[in-house]
Amino acid sequence: MNIVVCAKQVVDVGEIKVNPSSGKPMLEGIPKKISDIDKNACEEAIKVREKVGGKVTVLTVGTPDAKERMKELLAMGADNGVLVTVPDKADHLVTSTLISKAIQKMGGADLIICAEASIDQFSGQIGPRVAGLLNIPQLTYCYKVTAEPQKLTAERNLGDRLVTSESSYPVLVTVTKEVNQPRLPSLMQILGSAKKPIEVWGTSDIGAADLKPGIETIDIKGVAMSRKNIVFKDDLDESVSKLADSLSKEGLLG
Ligand SMILES: Cc1cc2nc3c(=O)[nH]c(=O)nc-3n(C[C@H](O)[C@H](O)[C@H](O)COP(=O)(O)OP(=O)(O)OC[C@H]3O[C@@H](n4cnc5c(N)ncnc54)[C@H](O)[C@@H]3O)c2cc1C
Repeated sequence: MNIVVCAKQVVDVGEIKVNPSSGKPMLEGIPKKISDIDKNACEEAIKVREKVGGKVTVLTVGTPDAKERMKELLAMGADNGVLVTVPDKADHLVTSTLISKAIQKMGGADLIICAEASIDQFSGQIGPRVAGLLNIPQLTYCYKVTAEPQKLTAERNLGDRLVTSESSYPVLVTVTKEVNQPRLPSLMQILGSAKKPIEVWGTSDIGAADLKPGIETIDIKGVAMSRKNIVFKDDLDESVSKLADSLSKEGLLG
């Protein structure tokens, strides 16, 4: 089974500070990492391979430095990587088109796994768009995946109901954080990941040189959050009661 995990390099959003005068997020020097739920996507891909056999390819559309982050997923157990270098401007249409064209260049995939959403932009668009572009079924918001050689069953959290769905292959699955606990690679696996291949493809290598984004980001402003710094130091029961009173006064409890 050919399994592709779509993984995005993001800035560590927990580290972002907002410039108080301009309101702009300060991104200089912020460490980058693989988007959190993409590690769950990779873990699930490895589990499927362990059960039914095959190969796991990590696919990233990103800047050249993403190669280093992709190695974390190769250390977890993915077999190889493909990095499509992203043009300067890339909206969701561009990113999903590059992903689908890269998968076509690979000769297709039986199973494509994305996260339900990335931790930075959190649009949740990429998985469904890729399935649409490849004209294959999609199972979104999966918190449990059971792969068998001929079909895949997924339990999905659709907010107000839990739905069990089944699909033949090829299929695209988007997973939630609850689907598994990503494994921590050993030192040997981290060292071994350096030997696993990561191919780098430009947009012209996948027949997508002329792609233009339809959407331009005009401005981004962070929302500064200030804490009230109220500390309850009484004994536990009294503190809980005071906390409940405070939350109630703020209108946060019904
Ligand atoms: C250099 C650069 C320039 C950009 N310029 C613009 C711009 O001008 N205008 C604009 O609107 N946006 C721009 N973007 C943002 C980009 O379009 C989005 O990050 C991308 O479309 C994904 O959107 P999302 O994070 O909401 O994905 P979601 O749909 O929330 O992601 C869901 C899942 O899809 C997969 N996925 C998402 N993105 C990728 C990826 N890049 N590679 C592999 N898998 C992925 C992952 O599994 C992810 O968890 C730019 C990004 C980069 C890196």
